[in-house]
Amino acid sequence: ELLRQWRRLALIHFPTLCQPRSAHSHKGTFGTLGIVGGAEGMAGSITLAGMAALHCGCGKVWLGFHQPALPIPLLFQQPEIMLSTANRLLQRSDITAWVIGCGLGTETSALTKLTECLQQKSVVPMLLDADALNLVAQQPALLSSRQNQQDIILTPHLGEAARLLHCTIGEIQNNRYQAVRCLAEKYGAWVVLKGHQSLIASPNGQVQQNETGNAGLATAGSGDVLAGIIGSLLAQRIPPQQAVYAGVWLHGAAADILAASEIGPIGLCAGEIAAAVRWLRNRL
Ligand code: AMP
Ligand code: MG
Repeated sequence: ELLRQWRRLALIHFPTLCQPRSAHSHKGTFGTLGIVGGAEGMAGSITLAGMAALHCGCGKVWLGFHQPALPIPLLFQQPEIMLSTANRLLQRSDITAWVIGCGLGTETSALTKLTECLQQKSVVPMLLDADALNLVAQQPALLSSRQNQQDIILTPHLGEAARLLHCTIGEIQNNRYQAVRCLAEKYGAWVVLKGHQSLIASPNGQVQQNETGNAGLATAGSGDVLAGIIGSLLAQRIPPQQAVYAGVWLHGAAADILAASEIGPIGLCAGEIAAAVRWLRNRL
């Protein structure tokens, strides 16, 4: 019954998501996601994002680690994922969407890397999460170096939002609608204010509330998984206005499926969300 309701909702709100795959499709049809982050000790974050992205249907995933040597053991976690350094990944011209910031760090070298990402000539959608947001909070002018801000997606949790708006977490929590709208207008970008019933604002400040998800998502890496899911949909060339909302919705619905089968909310692991997203996408 819930699944039927979800399918109806998805057909109305994200028609592109529900289109069946053409028999003649190939991996290029579903785009290539580039993910930049994963400084030393934080390699897991972009790996989680990449695994979620593959399970959400994009054709190829590249991870660009912001560290000199590649963390080789990750190869065996998901051998379908291609590994590179951030420097080399930024040279590629076949990327159809970017996710920047998961485990990137906030030191000077991370700032340089983010600046390079934003100054890229190719204009494909770019999602900024985690440390990318912390760097933008320190240097708001960073984002104006990008020609087209409409294709920027920011996904702050309450703490990141408070840093971006230079106020306290309590102030954000008590004025969630105002905060998300303010961020969208300030940066001219799509903004997801994460948490229980995440809010999504369009660049012109229209706000929608997501109804899926549960407290099982309050666990390490679940934001990285969300970034991978939205990035995957963007890489698949689903328009941002559908991809952002659909991604948040899928992420929450996957957690609801897992909770219903008693995989969570207690002890849900972020990596488990990916397979549930795949299950759901194949039923919409
Ligand atoms: P992050 O804090 O970056 O790891 O992101 C956490 C993710 O889990 C976001 O997508 C949140 O919306 C989601 N999340 C965290 N706590 C809850 C909660 N209590 N209910 C629903 N979703 C949550
Ligand atoms: Mg996070």
